[in-house]
Order: sequence, then C-alpha cells, then structure tokens
Amino acid sequence: MRKVLSYSGAALLSLTIILSGCGSQTSPKNNDQSSDVANPAVQQVIAPVYKRAEIISSPDVAKQLLIDGNSRFVAGKPLSKDLSATRRTDLMKNGQHPFAVIVSCSDSRVPPELLFDQALGDLFVIRVAGNVITPVELGSVEYAVEHLKAPLVVVLGHEECGAVTAAVQGSVAHGNIAAITDKIKPAVDAAKAMGLTGKDLIEKSADINIQNAMKDISGSSIMKEGVESKQVKIIGAKYDQDEGALKLMND
Ligand SMILES: [Zn+2]
Repeated sequence: MRKVLSYSGAALLSLTIILSGCGSQTSPKNNDQSSDVANPAVQQVIAPVYKRAEIISSPDVAKQLLIDGNSRFVAGKPLSKDLSATRRTDLMKNGQHPFAVIVSCSDSRVPPELLFDQALGDLFVIRVAGNVITPVELGSVEYAVEHLKAPLVVVLGHEECGAVTAAVQGSVAHGNIAAITDKIKPAVDAAKAMGLTGKDLIEKSADINIQNAMKDISGSSIMKEGVESKQVKIIGAKYDQDEGALKLMND
C-alpha cells in the first residue's frame, strides 16, 4: 500500500536523532551543522518540510518524533517554527505529507501541534469532544493513512476530560451532545463494572474510551491492511494537563 523506502535501520536511527534536534538549526547556541552537511541524512532533514515528511515512513520513527516533541514541550523548549510564506507555498505546491494522524479531544487545553511541538504539514489532526470515533472521524483517519501515507495513528485523550465526566455523571445531554456521551458510555459501563467511583471512575473511563477508539480504528479494513503489513501503527496516549506529559497506553 505504501511505497517502500530504502533507508537502513541505522540511517533511520540517525535520522531520528537528527530530526529530534533539527529545530536547533535556528537556536543561537547550537547552529553549527556545517560539518554534517555532507551526510545524506542531514541533507534530507534540512530539506523543505514536505520532503522531510516523505521520508518518515516508519511508525516507530514517527512515534519517536512525537515523544521527542512532547519532551521539548514539557521542558518549555519548543523548536522555532517556519511559518513563512515560503514554507506555506512549499506545502501548497508539493502537497501535505503528515507523518502522524492525531485523533484528539477538542478540549482547548489539549492542542496536538503544541504539545507534540510539531510544525506546519507534520500532523493530520482530527478533533472531536471525547476523542470518539464515528464513521466521519474514521473516514478522516482512513484518508490520511491511505492517501497521505501517514504511518502512525494516535488516539489522544486527557485527564479530567469534560466529555468523559459528563458521560460518567449520566445527566441528560441536550441537543446533539448525547451523540458524544452515548459513544463514551460503554467505556463508563466497563469502568463501573470494576467497582470504581469518583475520580478513579472518570480516569479509568477515559482510559477505556481511548482503547475503544483504537478498536474502532483497528476495525477498518483499510487500517487492517496497513497494520498487518507493519506499515501503520495505532497507539493510544493520555495527556496529563499539569505535567504537560503524555503517557503512551500500549507501549
Ligand atoms: Zn476532553
């Protein structure tokens, strides 16, 4: 399904290391890359972002980039981002090649591009309250994997999620909000069956809700093809708001 690229494991490893520090190109204290320019891996890393993303076809490399990005976010040391007209034009002319699909809660405190410290063109983000998967969200995931060749899908939930809390409280949801809480309810039922109450019940419900979304994504025939051929991975993550850190749930 995806084109096979001929990078060796060692090259990918070095690429990961280089990519994780590539933003320091713009850092005054670490801008000496002249000795590395002859290295083909470096040449590709310092290429325009659309070419950089094209070579990130490994789910594990993509995951490491997100882990590294979150570490920078937690440390308060995000990379400089190229938001110039030149970069935007590059992406428009050459198309998008995001290396990860993020299905995230809509909560304004959980913005994927910021907490993963990624730039224009890097992430294909689907945001919906409670990070639930319906056919609409699943279609977006399938599009990003099948057509844009993104190798990694992350379901991103978070602690103290309002949508999960509403589903736990079980109060009457007005308008179309019930469509969200109804989708979360099986996770709440499973957590209640464990005898949990209070905050423990809410957080376990959120964890199971992430896992349920991963199962919904895994059930897609398009996703199965990618997962079985190991060209695509689906992982879950939970965001700790005060720490700023992510906990990977199936690693
Ligand atoms: Zn939420």
